[in-house]
Amino acid sequence: MSAGSRGTTCPQAAEARSSVLQRTSAGLLLRPKGRATKKRAPQLYLCGRGLGSSSAINAQVSSRGMLEDSDRWGELGCTGWSSAEVLPTFMRLEDDLNYGDQPYHGRGSPIPINRDPLEQWGAVSRAVREVALALGYQWSDDRNAPHRTGVTAWASNSRAGMRISTNDAYLEPARGRPNLEILGDALVDRVEFTGRRATGVRVRIGKSWTSIRGVE
Ligand SMILES: Cc1cc2nc3c(=O)[nH]c(=O)nc-3n(C[C@H](O)[C@H](O)[C@H](O)COP(=O)(O)OP(=O)(O)OC[C@H]3O[C@@H](n4cnc5c(N)ncnc54)[C@H](O)[C@@H]3O)c2cc1C
Repeated sequence: MSAGSRGTTCPQAAEARSSVLQRTSAGLLLRPKGRATKKRAPQLYLCGRGLGSSSAINAQVSSRGMLEDSDRWGELGCTGWSSAEVLPTFMRLEDDLNYGDQPYHGRGSPIPINRDPLEQWGAVSRAVREVALALGYQWSDDRNAPHRTGVTAWASNSRAGMRISTNDAYLEPARGRPNLEILGDALVDRVEFTGRRATGVRVRIGKSWTSIRGVE
């Protein structure tokens, strides 16, 4: 999205106005015109609606980019992408319930990272693991550790069997803030700027349009 001092139209909101975005019975928002590259045909993309957005409906898999790849990108000249540069951010995002004491994992973030112990796996998952090991794939207890690959328990954003969405992790604890107001069914059309600073949004709530200015 680009915006000048009076703001410019957000393409997603323009699409929504022409009813291109739809709600499904599951309450999800489809983006039928999503396209990864100009060469690829448009695809349907699901997007979570409501607080927590897609983190409220996703598969909760917490899979980091491989640090070895990061180092290769760093060597190729991608400033900011080496493992030494990305690892602190990965760690800051985590409350790793299994391996938080390892030097490459983090503890204390609102987002949990949990791997179910083998005893709690379902029959199909166990059978797939056994077959893969029998075929010679190695076991990896932590796929997000450096230099690890193989059959693994997937790391998920859950605590005590419950999904932790970004709403649960970040918004719920902040609900009491005096400078926070949560509005449902609000469609943003544009971000409004004062000079180069984003200071508010133009938004449709129900059938009315209004401008909301941010406060510190
Ligand atoms: C089915 C599914 C499974 C997935 N599984 C995984 C997984 O296992 N692991 C993983 O890491 N990632 C997964 N993802 C991807 C991950 O959930 C997303 O990358 C992530 O949630 C994106 O966060 P976001 O805040 O950028 O966007 P979103 O979570 O998409 O949030 C954008 C929000 O903005 C709202 N919005 C858009 N336009 C407007 C507008 N004009 N006005 C007002 N609101 C607007 C949307 O309704 C939505 O609520 C999955 C995604 C899906 C859909």
